[in-house]
Amino acid sequence: MAGEVLSALRPRVEGLAARGVQPGLATVLVGDNPASRAYVRNKLRTCAETGLHAELHELPAAAGEEEILAKVAELNASATVHGIIVQLPLPRAVNAERILQSVVLSKDVDGFNWANLGALVDGHVQLAPCTPLGVMKMLERAGVRLEGQHAVVIGRSSIVGKPLALMLIASGATVTVCNSKTPDLALHSRTADVLVSAAGRARLVTADMVKPGAVVIDVGINRDAAGKLVGDVDYEAVREVAGAVSPVPGGVGRMTVAMLVANTVLAAEKTAPTR
Ligand code: NAD
Repeated sequence: MAGEVLSALRPRVEGLAARGVQPGLATVLVGDNPASRAYVRNKLRTCAETGLHAELHELPAAAGEEEILAKVAELNASATVHGIIVQLPLPRAVNAERILQSVVLSKDVDGFNWANLGALVDGHVQLAPCTPLGVMKMLERAGVRLEGQHAVVIGRSSIVGKPLALMLIASGATVTVCNSKTPDLALHSRTADVLVSAAGRARLVTADMVKPGAVVIDVGINRDAAGKLVGDVDYEAVREVAGAVSPVPGGVGRMTVAMLVANTVLAAEKTAPTR
């Protein structure tokens, strides 16, 4: 599915080229977190494969807030950059919120700006967060009906759970959002026609928590006790009960990157000169 999303972008990238524009994504990476480095490499490669220009701006782990803000300001003003992402997590000492909100609205391809998040409340998708967009795209391409269905989202973060809940509401689903204080998670999950887990807890969702035939989307990325990359869902057991379940790795993560590229193309189209 991610490959299909990227293929569908190619004619749009060619259309921009005919208008003298190559969509450009700039990534700001602070410090040397190996997982962040791997994610960034993946994003840069996918951009290059789709015909985008991608640049990496690395700052040392000791970089202060002002230095990072100055870098974002430079990219906000750059004519060749249409999308900016600041790779998370940022060092604890910096105010991540202040830095994320400093990305100019038109280049906010992560969709974290409060104005872009706010548009979702009114059912409008502008530049929306890539992971929820990827989940919605997965459901759409798999032909999953949402109207009249009960969707349960586990997790209420501002970058995954909450924006996803707003998108599901807009699609006509009845939506329940659970969090770490929800007393009986299984009580809700068992009634879900569509169950999305974005909690970041390995094997949180077990087979007895899933309604037979439900569609289960696993957003979580965790390491189990043996160091293996796993999602939130006990995949092998849940696939016996569910109608469909997305794997980790190779599921939502790939869709997220595809949607980031899609957002960058969209951002470039909005500012490209018409010929
Ligand atoms: P977060 O820590 O900000 O939020 C987690 C949410 O889950 C919180 O709202 C918390 O209340 C809830 N939660 C935690 N434990 C719970 C439990 N036992 N029962 C019910 N709710 C519980 O995390 P996040 O940034 O939203 O990310 C969530 C997960 O998704 C992480 O594993 C992260 O690595 C992964 N993620 C994956 C992608 C991707 O591209 N696949 C993108 C972003 C995040």
